[in-house]
Amino acid sequence: MSKTLRVAIIGAGPAGIYAGNILHSQYPEVEIDLYDSLPAPYGLIRYGVAPDHPRIKGIVNSLHEMLNEGIIRFFGNVTFGRDLYLKDIRKHYHAVIFATGAIKDAELHIPGIELEGSFGAADFVSWYDGHPDFPRTWPLNATEVAVLGNGNVALDVARVLAKQADDMLSTDIPANVYEGLKASPATDIHVFGRRGPASIKFTPIELRELGEIEDVDIVVYEEDFSENWFDEDAEGVTNQQRVMARVINSWRGRELTGASRRLHLHFWHKPAEILGENGKVVGMRFERTEDVGAGAISNTGVFVDYPLQAVYRAIGYFGSEIPGVPFDDKYGVIRNDGGRVVDEQGKRVEGLYATGWIKRGPVGLIGHTKSDALETITNLVADVPNLEDPEVPSTDAVLETLGERGVEFTDWAGWLKLNAYEQSLGEKDSSAVERERVKVVDRDEMVKVSRS
Ligand code: NAP
Repeated sequence: MSKTLRVAIIGAGPAGIYAGNILHSQYPEVEIDLYDSLPAPYGLIRYGVAPDHPRIKGIVNSLHEMLNEGIIRFFGNVTFGRDLYLKDIRKHYHAVIFATGAIKDAELHIPGIELEGSFGAADFVSWYDGHPDFPRTWPLNATEVAVLGNGNVALDVARVLAKQADDMLSTDIPANVYEGLKASPATDIHVFGRRGPASIKFTPIELRELGEIEDVDIVVYEEDFSENWFDEDAEGVTNQQRVMARVINSWRGRELTGASRRLHLHFWHKPAEILGENGKVVGMRFERTEDVGAGAISNTGVFVDYPLQAVYRAIGYFGSEIPGVPFDDKYGVIRNDGGRVVDEQGKRVEGLYATGWIKRGPVGLIGHTKSDALETITNLVADVPNLEDPEVPSTDAVLETLGERGVEFTDWAGWLKLNAYEQSLGEKDSSAVERERVKVVDRDEMVKVSRS
């Protein structure tokens, strides 16, 4: 007979929930406790996906069903390394899976990065998604803004900055975010890629969406396009790339319509320096790059300056180290081999696993975390015979310990209350548009409603 397995998962975003769900389907005799430092579940979907992307936010519905079955028990407002330690895991569980994602911005080492008005996109995303641990106000006082990077996060940031706040009202944005966006004087949002238009990391739906924003003109520059800038029939070209090339081509040579905001797409611009005066951003210098074949670029020695008052770097996310867990600080991931945590010498650390962005780095769409979780769980299940039995195999004992430590943890019943409360705020909202929910931002309020 197989033994009843007890597994803790740290991180209640899609990666953690998919891992729990797959684990239960592969090994039904399992007790799974899912912890998150936030009082609410859903991680990246609640705090990373842009509010005006309801299609992606809708993934919450299937995650909700998975948690609502009661097989995976959710406990929020519990920070690993502060409220719950590795020694607790060892005492109460056979194994732990870290699914903590990546919430920080990758660093960009150029002069002027520390100036006032220079921001990380991840921080801005956390602000507009109402993350409780970020400031409530955001300095939106620039008319000309740069967004660095040619990935989907750059598009999210550029779109949110370019949209009129009223067009965001049907989403779940908190009141402070609506007020902040409404007051923004932005007129020109410039997105800069260091490579050419054929090397963008966007996806087609997200790119096409830019051209559909109300009251925004898209501007692209002819000097960024060579005659044969995109070869549809070249080997290895994907359908996605073909679609995006057509979208970009449709924007070339477009007349301005007199919209009140413009979204400029620049290519072959490598960030060189953020220019400042009196400690504040006043512009940005780029070095023009050129194609040297096989997707590579080289610097041209030609520099161009743009007057700007704010710069957002959307050049990738970066994972955070977890206390006591081997971490690769070059790539911002937990050291692992197929999801099994290993130390610097490559030796397995028994009972520790990783999945999602903290396992493989911050690339890929939410769906990709499923295949990732499958690999980790398959390895975990294969290891079951060798996993050491915990001394006290009891969730009640963990919750007792958390209580003794003064941790005001939330649970699934608490989330259902907070969820209903946010939906009721949406119904009560007096805006002209129908709102499905209004997010609660304050952590104490989230905890209070959940534990009421
Ligand atoms: P990403 O797709 O990896 O894009 C990062 C961009 O930053 C690339 O264009 C990269 O250029 C550029 N970059 C990196 N270092 C740079 C530097 N030093 N100077 C200038 N540019 C630099 O990352 P992401 O945008 O953070 O997105 C992460 C993942 O989440 C992606 O898989 C993305 O598709 C997904 N996501 C999806 C959505 C959605 O709505 N579907 C929304 C957000 C995120 P190079 O190509 O030259 O390296």
